[in-house]
Amino acid sequence: MNINLLDDKELEKLRTLLAEARHIVICAHKSPDGDAVGSTLAWKSYLRQLGKDDVRICLPDAFPDFLKWMPGSNEVLRYDKRPAEVKRAFNAADLVCCLDFNQMMRVEDMRPVLEECKAKRLLIDHHIDPDRNNELTISRTEMSSTSEIVFSLIWQLGGYDDMAKDCAQCIYCGMMTDTGGFTYNSTRPEIYFIISQLLAKRIDKDNIYNKVYHNYSTNALKLRGYIIYNKLNVVEELHAAYFAVTKEEMKRFKFIKGDLEGVVNIPQQIKGLKLSISLREDTEKPNLVLVSLRSSNGFHCQPMAVRFFNGGGHADASGGKLHCSIKEAEQIALKAILAFKDELR
Ligand code: 5GP
Ligand code: MN
Repeated sequence: MNINLLDDKELEKLRTLLAEARHIVICAHKSPDGDAVGSTLAWKSYLRQLGKDDVRICLPDAFPDFLKWMPGSNEVLRYDKRPAEVKRAFNAADLVCCLDFNQMMRVEDMRPVLEECKAKRLLIDHHIDPDRNNELTISRTEMSSTSEIVFSLIWQLGGYDDMAKDCAQCIYCGMMTDTGGFTYNSTRPEIYFIISQLLAKRIDKDNIYNKVYHNYSTNALKLRGYIIYNKLNVVEELHAAYFAVTKEEMKRFKFIKGDLEGVVNIPQQIKGLKLSISLREDTEKPNLVLVSLRSSNGFHCQPMAVRFFNGGGHADASGGKLHCSIKEAEQIALKAILAFKDELR
């Protein structure tokens, strides 16, 4: 199967960029998910394979506990914890690889460091509407995940034979988490060709699934049950659902980062549902509401994320944020649903 992504010119450009780079920073978006962490670790592993000995992964903030098993994740530098060290790494870099985000604002507080740094920039991503102001932009919105793109690049560059099992595990985890365990956005046959090549590296895919999805604390599982039982609003005639979770509720269930990951997908189990919106108060900043959207059955949530929630993402999995109270956020969600009533009905 041909999984090559780049034409001859792009391939040459990528080879040259990598050949010339000596000090490399790899970064990803704020609140890094399985794909952000998986793709950055895998790309680092490949660069090490090429003999690059100064490669650092710099992330804006923490990633969830259920990703801590990932090989190499303990070496990731966090901007919120060690800003000076991250700045030094960016300033010393001659190549910055931006993975799993489309716009510089997605790194949030780390943005000035990224924008002020003089290094050449390589963007590898799968979100809609990428910033193209880079030395090389590899944007493939049809791909399941940035991890899938990273695999295809390593493959096309001839690095598969020497790929380590650790690298294969990271790629699998990124592909798995960005497709909800291959339940959405995962119909292209290339995905399963890649999985077969990862399995040939002796990864244990069932074990990876367990480590990621069977990692809840009792409180985290109860919080999910509480949201579904007490907080879910369903606008039946518009095939839309939304829920809002307050800081106080999260505190009650001893919330830690990652506990609400994927809850937005649960209402999608309602027959015929087209849209699910999750609103939750940020645990640190006041008047900040984090928004997640999911869509199916022919409705696409990305335009709604752009228009109502200062965000974006993929056609059927988007996010954003609101600077208001959680009550106001609920009203905005309802307004958004009504604004799209013709497509939702
Ligand atoms: P999640 O709901 O899992 O946080 O995010 C779903 C998708 O929306 C991800 O692909 C993510 O990158 C994108 N996304 C999440 N938050 C934002 C945001 O604030 N702005 C934009 N443009 N995209 C976002
Ligand atoms: Mn992704």
